[in-house]
Amino acid sequence: MKKGNKYGTHRVIEPKGVLPQPAVKVDNDFTEIYDNEILVDVDILNIDSASFTQIKEQADGDTDKIKEIILEIVSKQGKMKNPVTGSGGMFIGTVLKIGEALEGKRDLKVGDKIASLVSLSLTPLKIEKIISIKKDVDQVKVKAKAILFESGIYSKLPDDMPDALSLAVLDVCGAPAQTARLVKSGDTVVVIGASGKSGVLCCYEAKRRAGINGRVIGIVSRDETLKTLKALDICDDVIKLDATDAISCYEEILKLTNGELADVVINNVNIQNTEMGSILMCKERGVVYFFSMATSFTKAALGAEGIGKDVDMIVGNGYALDHAEITLNILREDKTIRDLYERLYA
Ligand code: NAP
Repeated sequence: MKKGNKYGTHRVIEPKGVLPQPAVKVDNDFTEIYDNEILVDVDILNIDSASFTQIKEQADGDTDKIKEIILEIVSKQGKMKNPVTGSGGMFIGTVLKIGEALEGKRDLKVGDKIASLVSLSLTPLKIEKIISIKKDVDQVKVKAKAILFESGIYSKLPDDMPDALSLAVLDVCGAPAQTARLVKSGDTVVVIGASGKSGVLCCYEAKRRAGINGRVIGIVSRDETLKTLKALDICDDVIKLDATDAISCYEEILKLTNGELADVVINNVNIQNTEMGSILMCKERGVVYFFSMATSFTKAALGAEGIGKDVDMIVGNGYALDHAEITLNILREDKTIRDLYERLYA
């Protein structure tokens, strides 16, 4: 077997010298695998929400066109990295081969079912066929193969929940894990996109950390999701606002917090132009956590400077230690959230 690089640089075709994530094209020929790779037979791709929303818009919601766009991206780049949003997603599948350099170093054997916990934006992928698309939950059933590099993290699929449910929550498991670190007892926390897949998990974790003296305010943008989130009873307040309307967001949260604003703002939306609303709702020296992949670093940094707001802004690293277990445990602890997620995603 050929020797591979830990981070997968051996599969980068263009431009040379970069890592697989920023690469424009990676090698997705799996006839022979490298000695430190894991080859996986892929069942379902969970396309990142910002990416799938953009593709759906480009395709005017047409399923065949969505399929075409996905196949074109993967055939051009050898991976599923949306050229507009730059984001990927993750997959579930069954281990087909494990490189000899990894033998005895992984708690994994051929035939195990796993979820990738690294982005599809860096994962070599070859799609033979798209079988079906669940447009409402961003999931694409495929006949495909993918490679996990030596540095690529994964999670064995738990046997106490359906695979599609694990796939859905593992896609966003960095968010509740980071929320657990950022929110302190007594904090006022605003979660934008609070009714979404990552939003609900963040609200739950924020409430647990903020405690009875803290307050969690969930922002949704539709009447339907307002009702759903209220019924979950994980937020102190649920309000309907358009997160792109920065001034309305600011005024509403200013009123609701008696002029205090939020200690922590968590952004879980899947659309652009919500940076200023997030920053304005946060108090001086507070923290804004941008989990959303539709976030613009330029808009956030220059926008905060432009209004003279001294806040710490955190980039939503998809990885945090024990993020998969923390997130799966939320579903094990809270039956109402689990029931909702089974209904929506499984
Ligand atoms: P999701 O389930 O699709 O939820 C998106 C949310 O955005 C919905 O709750 C929706 O609320 C809200 N939203 C849309 N337009 C809005 C508006 N104008 N005002 C207020 N809220 C609005 O998405 P997800 O899977 O949780 O993902 C959330 C974000 O995280 C996406 O940007 C995704 O790309 C990103 N992500 C990041 C990472 C990472 O590693 N950092 C990993 C995975 C995903 P309503 O339903 O009420 O309209």
